[in-house]
Amino acid sequence: MMVAPVIYLDNLATTRIAPEVLSEMLPWLDEEYGNASSGTHSFGWRAADAAESARVNVAALIGAQHPAEITFTSGATESNNLVLKAVSGALDGSPTHFITTEIEHPSVLQAAEYLQRCGDVSLTIIRPESDGRVQAEDVAKAIRPTTRLISVMVVNNEVGTLQPVADIGRIARDANVLFHVDAAQAIAKTEFDVNEISADFASFSAHKLYGPKGIGALYTRVSTANSRLVPLLHGGGQEGGLRSGTLPVAQIVGFGAAARLAAREWQLDLNRIAALSLAFVDRLAEIDGFHLNGSLGQRVPNCINFSCEGVLSDALIAAVPNLAISSGSACSSHHGGGSHVLQAMALDEGRQTSAIRIGLGKFTTPSEVDVASKMIIAAVKRLRAGTPARSIRQAGEPSNLRRMDI
Ligand code: PMP
Repeated sequence: MMVAPVIYLDNLATTRIAPEVLSEMLPWLDEEYGNASSGTHSFGWRAADAAESARVNVAALIGAQHPAEITFTSGATESNNLVLKAVSGALDGSPTHFITTEIEHPSVLQAAEYLQRCGDVSLTIIRPESDGRVQAEDVAKAIRPTTRLISVMVVNNEVGTLQPVADIGRIARDANVLFHVDAAQAIAKTEFDVNEISADFASFSAHKLYGPKGIGALYTRVSTANSRLVPLLHGGGQEGGLRSGTLPVAQIVGFGAAARLAAREWQLDLNRIAALSLAFVDRLAEIDGFHLNGSLGQRVPNCINFSCEGVLSDALIAAVPNLAISSGSACSSHHGGGSHVLQAMALDEGRQTSAIRIGLGKFTTPSEVDVASKMIIAAVKRLRAGTPARSIRQAGEPSNLRRMDI
């Protein structure tokens, strides 16, 4: 029996590694196995050079002034933890206040709440509007004399809403408060330059831009006295002492290759993705009771989060086993149960329990969009007509439910 291929539409969870990125990485997993810290032979020198070229590419992509502003980490989760804990660890014991938002990734929210529980910081968590956008004035109003850090994501990973980070950056700079952005979903999806938004810190993951998993970066503005930051990992002193551990050279080379590819192609890719996204939404809008979740104007086009009235997300996902999509209700471990993002947006219960996230990417084709929209429209009709979803999935087949905070 021919099994139909699954169409991958979960590009916010992760992206496929680009072929040219993979081929650049391969030698560094094979004959080029030197340790970038080995300063006594050519294996080490070549590895160090490769890591430094990658650092230059990543720095260039985000507008960093200097490659040394890039610290390689295992991904945005580590970068987010590092910046929050490094800033709080550098404190002199005086009262300290952090500001963040209710729609952040759990690696920001849970790190911030951990620091609060430890008594190191007090916390203000800003609620977004119902379109998933935080108001810059709300951040301004929350600033106190003891505020040290503001942490806001650039693009939300569930609804794709763009946050007003340029305004918040100006507010932070004027108030002399450090500003961190989680840019995991922003880089190569929207214009992004650390200077334009006055960011002191920014977090990234390579696997969101067609690079490998397990590698990311923290941008730290040079003027933000690096030495005062306390590392999470103490050890051999790599990465200027901020992130000890033998450099994963193949991964870093892959990140550098992905950054170079993104610099060259992201705008073209995004124009193509925007057209596909528009066509997809147009088709889905034929469904009675279809709602797009998140901001209509301030969004990245690669993310489509929608709800179909009366159709539970889990049932719809189960009814389209040939689509790799994710749900808005299975998403968050932060509050347990439903999506902490949709809850923060105060969407009504029905919208929350029927939310679906689709993530388009560089490799998504018009015919995939055509097939996928037809499958979804047909599945909604079937479910509304009362055909049980269980009969559609074959016995023993794993659920394609995706947790959205991954
Ligand atoms: N922040 C955001 C906004 C994300 O979307 C993700 C990944 N879903 C992360 C942080 C964490 O990235 P990673 O899992 O690569 O560490």
